[in-house]
Amino acid sequence: MTATILEGRALAKLLREELRSAIYDFRQARGAAPTLAVVQVDGDPASDSYVRSIGRACEGVGIAFALHTLPADSSQATLERTIGALSADAGVHGILLQLPLPARLDPTGAIAQIDARKDVDGVTPTSAGRLAQGLPCLLPNTPAGGMELLRHYRISLAGKRAVVVGRSNIVGKPMALLLLHEHATVTIAHSRTPDLAAVVREADIVVAAVGRAGLISGDMLKPGAVVIDFGINVQNDGSMVGDVEFASAAEVAGAITPVPGGTGPVTNMMLLRNVLRAAADS
Ligand code: NDP
Repeated sequence: MTATILEGRALAKLLREELRSAIYDFRQARGAAPTLAVVQVDGDPASDSYVRSIGRACEGVGIAFALHTLPADSSQATLERTIGALSADAGVHGILLQLPLPARLDPTGAIAQIDARKDVDGVTPTSAGRLAQGLPCLLPNTPAGGMELLRHYRISLAGKRAVVVGRSNIVGKPMALLLLHEHATVTIAHSRTPDLAAVVREADIVVAAVGRAGLISGDMLKPGAVVIDFGINVQNDGSMVGDVEFASAAEVAGAITPVPGGTGPVTNMMLLRNVLRAAADS
């Protein structure tokens, strides 16, 4: 069997066009652009390049982008005051706190300052609680993007067995909830799960959200399984691979996201969509 490739780049292009047009309408109606504020504590080159890419993505669809870079030695109080001020600013519709923070800063306290109505990264406990209860909320972008890919390729979920490998608050756990809301029967596996291969082999839908190259190989998959690979692993030669061994998995799976070009591009579009939603609800 050779799997259908779930093309995130192509879907992201479609979503970008839809967003550009919806944002144009928003600007005409409101006389102002949806506005995203990004708060970053200086000192992490990987964050710099990610933040720049968000800036370019915003510019491409007509979202105003304001970067607040705090000095590397900023205190917790300064960080919280900055986020609190953005939460209170009616001209700011979305707030993204760039994580991870330097180890001496407390992300929980900083996240607590984000108004949940502006939580375009879906990181606040309010967003997480609303998601758990199936109430409307701004979803975390990575799992929202995975679900968007499944919807776009019309992959049915009701009654399917889904296994999500990884239980972080930002990827694995919300993905499991979103699959559950679509009536899949969901198992969450993690680093203490014995015999991961046996668990994964039961799944019609396999989601990898770990950060370990080659953790899941083709011989662990049920033939025809749909594989969503969120993993981002940079190899020694600078190339990027997912958590799933693509070549062997594509021989067994029914459909699979490539890395790069699968979930990543769609994630960025989900962020932009959240900014528009937050602005429309303001
Ligand atoms: P975390 O490090 O927060 O979580 C990793 C999870 O994997 C943990 O729950 C951990 O279990 C589990 N895990 C670790 N080792 C194993 C193992 N051997 N077997 C089974 N489970 C294991 O990562 P994130 O959730 O933030 O990110 C996951 C991946 O997704 C990363 O590669 C990250 O780069 C990528 N990512 C991709 C995005 C995209 O747009 N595609 C966006 C954001 C992240 P335990 O809880 O027991 O420690």
